[in-house]
Amino acid sequence: MTGYERTGVLDNNHIKKPSKERLERGPVVIIECVENIPCNPCVEVCPISAIGMEDINDTPDVNLDGCTGCALCVTECPGLAIFVIDCSEDDGCLVTVPYEYLPVPKKGEVVTALDREGNDMGDAEVIRIRESGMTYAVTLEVEKDKIWDVRGLKVKK
Ligand code: SF4
Ligand code: SF4
Repeated sequence: MTGYERTGVLDNNHIKKPSKERLERGPVVIIECVENIPCNPCVEVCPISAIGMEDINDTPDVNLDGCTGCALCVTECPGLAIFVIDCSEDDGCLVTVPYEYLPVPKKGEVVTALDREGNDMGDAEVIRIRESGMTYAVTLEVEKDKIWDVRGLKVKK
């Protein structure tokens, strides 16, 4: 039994990561979906067919080189398992996370970034918010050494 099967929390060894070169080229999707479940909205929504799946019970296979980082799949995934990372600028990186709670943060607001277990990862500014149905895609400015850990947010009181 692997670590996430015991704890329910993924670690970075279980996700497909882009190369350093790809990461610096522009926004790119990170899919943290590792269970074989009958689900495929991510495949259906991608406008350039960057996500593949031979059978609906498979886990998604993403073409990281082809992905444009549009984040459409972030708001469509019912498992809240898709993120986008952008390290194309010199000063810090952006991590886009799915969000379905209230209150919804505003652009420019400073929130608390959270890791996969809900631990406090420090303050992060909201750079952009996109809504689609019930799920928001919230883009946070994050230090480069936190991009593999920040996967959520908490609005400050
Ligand atoms: S971020 Fe956009 S281009 Fe990339 S996999 Fe998701 S929907 Fe496709
Ligand atoms: S939509 Fe989300 S949960 Fe469903 S297969 Fe794609 S990544 Fe996995």
